[in-house]
Amino acid sequence: MVAPPWIPVPPPGYGGIESVVELLCDELVARGHDVTLFAAPGSRSRARVCTPLEAAHPEQIGDQLHEADHVAAAWDAIDAGAPGPAPVDVIHDHTGVVAVAMGARAPAPLVQTLHLPLEGDFGRFYARHGHKATLVAISRSQARAAPRGVRIDAVVPNPIAIERWPFSDAKDDYLLWIGRMDPVKGPHRAIEVARRAGRPLVLAGPVQPGHERYFQECVEPHVDGRRIRYAGEVAGERKHRLYARAAAMLMPIRWAEPFGMVMIEALATGTPVIAFAEGAAAEIVADGRNGRLVRDEAEMARAVGDLDRLDPRVCRESVARRYAASGAVDAYEAIYRLAAGRRREPAPLLLRGTADRRPGPERMSPGRPLGSVARPQRR
Ligand code: UDP
Repeated sequence: MVAPPWIPVPPPGYGGIESVVELLCDELVARGHDVTLFAAPGSRSRARVCTPLEAAHPEQIGDQLHEADHVAAAWDAIDAGAPGPAPVDVIHDHTGVVAVAMGARAPAPLVQTLHLPLEGDFGRFYARHGHKATLVAISRSQARAAPRGVRIDAVVPNPIAIERWPFSDAKDDYLLWIGRMDPVKGPHRAIEVARRAGRPLVLAGPVQPGHERYFQECVEPHVDGRRIRYAGEVAGERKHRLYARAAAMLMPIRWAEPFGMVMIEALATGTPVIAFAEGAAAEIVADGRNGRLVRDEAEMARAVGDLDRLDPRVCRESVARRYAASGAVDAYEAIYRLAAGRRREPAPLLLRGTADRRPGPERMSPGRPLGSVARPQRR
């Protein structure tokens, strides 16, 4: 399992991918798989942890120098047989473009979970290189938006450990917006909605590199510590309490949200989600049941005035089983078998000294049928 290099697993605060990686590793190990996790220093896991880099780099999130360094060092370690007693059957990657670009030369079949929308240059990149990995989307909308020529092999929604999230049916007056301070996530639109609805708003989340100016100009000037409060980046019990006591969570997104962990986290605590119907929002929010799907700030403000119809218990139930780690790992086990079965003959140069360590599909342990996973197709 290769996590991104910037934030440890589990994440000390912000870090949706890192939470997902933590749960997948735990569940795979519980099922008896031998898992090595390559992640940022400071990571902890029930899997064997390898930290190729000297330090985590939360301040340089997205910097491809660290990504390339991390992925290359992880693959070197796999090539050298370092991670464990047996050869690696499959690499499950959660990083970015470097692994996919080089996927045909990976030291084991490569599965990549896509954590970003496949748009623009990024989409074009996958159209060119995506065939070098078995690609997994995290929502149907993300898969649907993939450009022509990008083969998505399966859709596996991100999991959540529901038992870790406290439920509350007693709610305070405030609205919650939580996420990274980025115009696509819309904290400035949440401010507008709270004003229109006449409700207090709590904003929580980090200001990542490149977004300092947006935060200073579009968010910070509205923070008065009373009607609009900024809690900074939140974690642990404080984060749980913020979610659980909120009247609703606002998701005024303007992008093809590939999943949106914050939505299932809010719902887990019994807090309804009012979202713009973009990206995966409509797959998580059922309008009128666990939240509302709206078009703009005016509709969102009106929906805030009509929260009584939404039952916190229904909110929690809507995510309790659907996003369990067991379901995600059932799917990933099938995907790993699919990827291992696709292993191409290594190029002659690569064969030397490595062929004897490479498992063929016949050596994978038998398991569940492929289920919803797409069957191998000819390229
Ligand atoms: N998060 C956090 N503290 C914050 C803001 C966010 O722990 O102050 C976490 C949040 O709980 C979620 C993740 O960061 O698990 C954000 O994931 P999401 O999928 O919503 O957004 P993205 O990955 O696009 O930033």
